[in-house]
Formats: sequence, structure tokens, C-alpha cells
Amino acid sequence: MASFELVEPRSLQEAFEHLDSDDPAVRPFGGGTALMLMMKAQLFKPVRLVSLRRLGRPFDGMSVSADETSFQIGAMTTFSQLEHSPEIRRHLPVVAQTMKTLANVRVRNVATVGGNLAHGDPHLDLPPVWMTLGAKVRIVSKLGERVIPVADVFAGYYETTLGRGEVIAELEVPIRSSWRSHYAKVTTRAEHDWPALGIAVSARCRGKLVEDVSIVLSAAVDRPTRLGAAEKVLRGSIVDGALLRRVGEAAAAEVEIESDMRGSADYKKHLLRVHLGRALSHVVGV
Ligand SMILES: Cc1cc2nc3c(=O)[nH]c(=O)nc-3n(C[C@H](O)[C@H](O)[C@H](O)COP(=O)(O)OP(=O)(O)OC[C@H]3O[C@@H](n4cnc5c(N)ncnc54)[C@H](O)[C@@H]3O)c2cc1C
Repeated sequence: MASFELVEPRSLQEAFEHLDSDDPAVRPFGGGTALMLMMKAQLFKPVRLVSLRRLGRPFDGMSVSADETSFQIGAMTTFSQLEHSPEIRRHLPVVAQTMKTLANVRVRNVATVGGNLAHGDPHLDLPPVWMTLGAKVRIVSKLGERVIPVADVFAGYYETTLGRGEVIAELEVPIRSSWRSHYAKVTTRAEHDWPALGIAVSARCRGKLVEDVSIVLSAAVDRPTRLGAAEKVLRGSIVDGALLRRVGEAAAAEVEIESDMRGSADYKKHLLRVHLGRALSHVVGV
């Protein structure tokens, strides 16, 4: 492996100076789990890696707003910190649930929330969950800051809208106590394998009546994708077997799915119909 510079700035200003380069081989460094794999495979040869781990707030730590309406999660928060946080379990239980089948403890101990979003890999488990929860991302650069919905981070297969010198500082997740959420990681081989489909669902219901709903599909598409047609079938309807079948058909019709090593397009559409119905049954409680 060729040598490279690793810097650990202690202020944002210093980080921006180190990141101020047009060279794509100068990059921020979160937990390094994705970067190291790319470096080992010689897909990425860094010139300089800028660690974000000594920047303090807002990159580090998690907090609930005083009125308990939102959760702030620093970009350098590790998956293990999410997994073991009583506050996450209380306010965002679907995030704790997602950790159960995400990678392994060694990866969870170092991989970060910010690196996971910035990587732009459509197979990752958390981005669809953040999307259905209505989360927003705070992005900072030497030019200032912008706050965008998580969906707007993704531009395509391993492509994001992050500009050169921009870093994700934190995530803001609304706490919606009247909504219930579920994430289905659908693997066609081992449980901890990369998903063939990721299905995240979040809904506000009164009994079996769905008042509002958000559904996001990942892994089988080039970026986490909201299933607007399926949501439309559900919104304002009473959930029963016939409705769930119509929702499954609407979902399968609205997305383009590619065949790959995890299954043919037809098989994955079948999985979508089946597992979306199950995820919705879980959330609605039928
Ligand atoms: C063995 C293994 C198994 C895995 N299994 C799963 C799994 O089951 N499910 C799953 O979802 N994921 C899985 N992962 C992937 C893992 O979730 C990602 O590798 C991880 O989320 C990336 O986070 P990181 O902090 O390590 O990112 P890094 O490797 O540090 O960075 C990834 C990319 O993001 C950029 N970056 C990092 N932080 C920021 C920031 N704050 N702002 C802007 N850009 C930034 C880097 O420059 C780089 O381009 C697995 C990984 C491994 C190695």
C-alpha cells in the first residue's frame, strides 16, 4: 500500500484547510471500514485522510431536544453507541432493531453514522430507516452549512450530492411518538449478509386505519427510494389482506429492479410483495 498522510484536526477550521483540495484522493475519514476495504482492493489510493474524530460537538454525541421532539446524532456516533443507547431504544426503537443484523460487532464498534451516509452504497441498512423517520442531515463546509433531507444525500449508485470539502456534521431525527416503524432486511443467503432488499416502513395509524405512511426500498435499487404509489394505496385505508396485496402490486410496479447475484429481478419483486406486506402488518399490528 502506498503511503499517505493521516491528519487529526482538532477544529473545524483546521479540518476544512486539510480538506481544501480538488484531489479526490483527499477525503474525510469516519470509522474507516468502507475506506479500508476500498484501499485493500486498490479501488482507492488516498493522498490524505482527514479524521473527524477529534472535532467534538456536533460530530460527537447524541442528544434529545428539551421538548423531546427531535434527536440529534453526531456524524461520528458509532453503530455500537446507537445499539446500546437507552435513549435510542426509547425514542427510535427501529434503529436499535436494525443494529441486530448489521455487520458484526467489530464493524459496529467503529463504523459511523456519517460515513455510512456519505458512502452512498445502496445496500446499507440505516439510510432507508433514516428516510422513513423523516431525518435531515446537517452538512458543513468552509462556505457555511446546509440542512437537507436524508433522501437528498443520494444521487445514484455510490454517488452522493456532497461537494468537495463538505462533511456531514450531524443528523436530526424527528421523534414522532404516534408513529410505528419497522425495517426488514431481506437476505437471500446468511442473515448478516448484504440485503437483496431493505424495506423500511413508518406509519401513523388509528386501529387498522393508516393515516400517514412512509415506505423506502433499498439494496435492489441504485439508491434508497421512496415508494410513493404504494404509500398512496395505503393512506386513508383500512389494512386487510386484500389491501396488502394491492400495496405489494403497486410497489412492484413502481420500481425498476436489476437482477444480480442475490436474485433475479422477478424474484426480488416477489420478495418485495411478500416482505412489504409483512413489514406493514408488523407496524399496523394486524
Ligand atoms: C465486514 C463488513 C460488513 C458490513 N456489513 C454491513 C451490513 O450488514 N449493513 C450495513 O449497513 N453496512 C455494513 N457494512 C458497511 C458499513 O456500514 C460501512 O462500511 C460504514 O457504515 C461506513 O462508515 P465508516 O464510518 O466506516 O466510513 P468510512 O470508511 O470512514 O468512510 C466512508 C466514505 O464516507 C466518507 N466520509 C466518512 N465520514 C464522513 C462525513 N462525516 N462526512 C462526509 N464524508 C464522510 C469517506 O471519505 C468515505 O468516502 C459492513 C462493512 C464491513 C467492513
